[in-house]
Amino acid sequence: MKKIAILGSTGSIGTQTLEVVRENGDIEVLGLAAGNNIRLLEQQIREFHPKVAAVWKEENAKELRERTRDLPVKVVCGMEGLIEVAVLEEVDILVTAIVGMIGIRPTIAAMEAGKNIALANKETLVTAGHIIMPLAKEKQVSILPVDSEHSAIFQSLQGNPRSALHKILLTASGGPFRGKTREDLKDIQVEDALKHPNWEMGRKITIDSSSLVNKGLEVIEAKWLFGVEIEQIEVVIHPQSIIHSMVEYVDGAIIAQLGTPDMKLPIQYALYYPERRFLPGERVDFSALSKLTFEKPDVDTFYGLRLAMEAGKAGGSLPTVFNAANELAVSKFLNRKIGYLQIPEIIEACMRAHKNIPNPSVEEILETERVVYEQIESRW
Ligand code: NDP
Repeated sequence: MKKIAILGSTGSIGTQTLEVVRENGDIEVLGLAAGNNIRLLEQQIREFHPKVAAVWKEENAKELRERTRDLPVKVVCGMEGLIEVAVLEEVDILVTAIVGMIGIRPTIAAMEAGKNIALANKETLVTAGHIIMPLAKEKQVSILPVDSEHSAIFQSLQGNPRSALHKILLTASGGPFRGKTREDLKDIQVEDALKHPNWEMGRKITIDSSSLVNKGLEVIEAKWLFGVEIEQIEVVIHPQSIIHSMVEYVDGAIIAQLGTPDMKLPIQYALYYPERRFLPGERVDFSALSKLTFEKPDVDTFYGLRLAMEAGKAGGSLPTVFNAANELAVSKFLNRKIGYLQIPEIIEACMRAHKNIPNPSVEEILETERVVYEQIESRW
C-alpha cells in the first residue's frame, strides 16, 4: 500500500488528491497539513486517520486538538509542524499542494528524508529550482509534476530519450481576459478575475491565470523540471484546454497529452506513476468538439508573462522577486487594496529595484522575499 502525506489538504489540489485516494482505496494517508480551514481538516482526519495533522497557527492547533480529542492523531503547528508532516517515517510520496513560497522548507526537508514529491506547489521550484533539482538527483528521489501542463509534458516524454527533446509547447487557456486590452482591464474587479473559463482552482492561482503570471511561473517550473532553457519553451494560447501541453522532438514530431480538464488525472498519474489507473469522468468527444484553436500570447497586455521569461532567463534571486512580488500583489488585489493592473506594475518595479544574487541559498531566497514584501508594504 502506498503511503502519502499532503501539505495543503484543504485546498483545491489537496481535496482532489483525497478524492483520488478515496476512489482508489489503496493509498494510506499518514499526514495532513492545512492553514485555517480546521473544520474541513477535522473531517479529513476523521475519514483518513492520519497519524499527524499540522495547522499553521497555534490557536488553530489548540482548537483542532480539542475537536479531535477522541482520535489518536497528533496535532502540530507552524513551520516545524509542516516539516514534521513532510518527513513522516514510512511516507513514500509527499504531495505539496500548499500555496506559496512557504512550501520551500518542507519540500527540501522531505527530499532530505528520501521522500518522492508530487509537486503542485510551483512557487518552490520557481524560487529554489537550482536547489531542488540537484537535491533530487543526490537523494535519488522523484519530482512528479501535478500541474496539468507539466504532467502533460512528463507524459509526452515517456519512452523517448531526453536528448531528442527540442522544445516544449506549453499551452494556456488565456484566462477570462483573453483578447482584452490594457484599457479594458483598468476596472477589473476581484469577482471578474476569479472567473476562470475552464478550471476550478484556488483563488491565488485563478488570479495568476487571468494575468498570465501563472503561465510565467509554469515556464520557470518547466525549465527546472525538464532541464531546458527558457528559449526552448513556447507558450501557446489554446482556449479549449483540451491539449494540456506538447513536446516537439528534434525530428519535428510533436507529442501531446489531451483530455477534458480534470486535475484528478495529473494527480492520479503522479501518485501511481508509472501505472495508469481507471479514472471516472467525462472523456473527450472529438465529434462534439467543433474546433481546437491556437494563438500567440499577448505579452504586451499581459506583460507578467514577459517579466517571468526575463526572470527565468536571468535566474538567481530574480525569479524569487518575481514570485514574491506577485504573491503579495495578488493578496492585496484580493483584499481590494490595489487595482488589477497594479499587479504587473508592482512585479516590474520590484524586479527593477533588485540586485540579482546568483545561486541564492534558502536563507537568501527567504531574505529576498522579506525585502520585496517590505518594499511593497512601504509603497503600496
Ligand atoms: P488553494 O488556495 O485552494 O489551497 C491552498 C492550501 O494551502 C490550503 O489547504 C490552505 O489551507 C493551505 N495553506 C495555505 N497557507 C498555509 C499555511 N501557512 N500553512 C499550512 N497550510 C497552508 O490552492 P490550490 O490548491 O489551488 O493550489 C495549491 C498549489 O498548487 C499552488 O502552488 C498552485 O499554484 C498549485 N497548482 C494548483 C492547481 C489547481 O488546479 N488548483 C493546478 C496546478 C498547480 P486552508 O485553506 O486551510 O487555509
